[in-house]
Amino acid sequence: MPDLDIVPFKDRCQFCRKRRVTKQCDFPKGTGAACSAKACDECAVSLGNEIDLCPKCVEMVVKMQKKL
Ligand SMILES: [Zn+2]
Ligand SMILES: [Zn+2]
Repeated sequence: MPDLDIVPFKDRCQFCRKRRVTKQCDFPKGTGAACSAKACDECAVSLGNEIDLCPKCVEMVVKMQKKL
């Protein structure tokens, strides 16, 4: 039947706005809370150990590493 998966707006990845959210960003924001941005499989970057980062945090980490 339909191979197009219609994802409800609230379940959509906030980065690509197409795919379903499957991950939440685990990047610590400094105050003990995680970033918690919601991303899909494609947008989230897994660091293993069940740690996933959203594209924004990945960008931040890359910038931080360039400064070092
Ligand atoms: Zn996405
Ligand atoms: Zn994040």
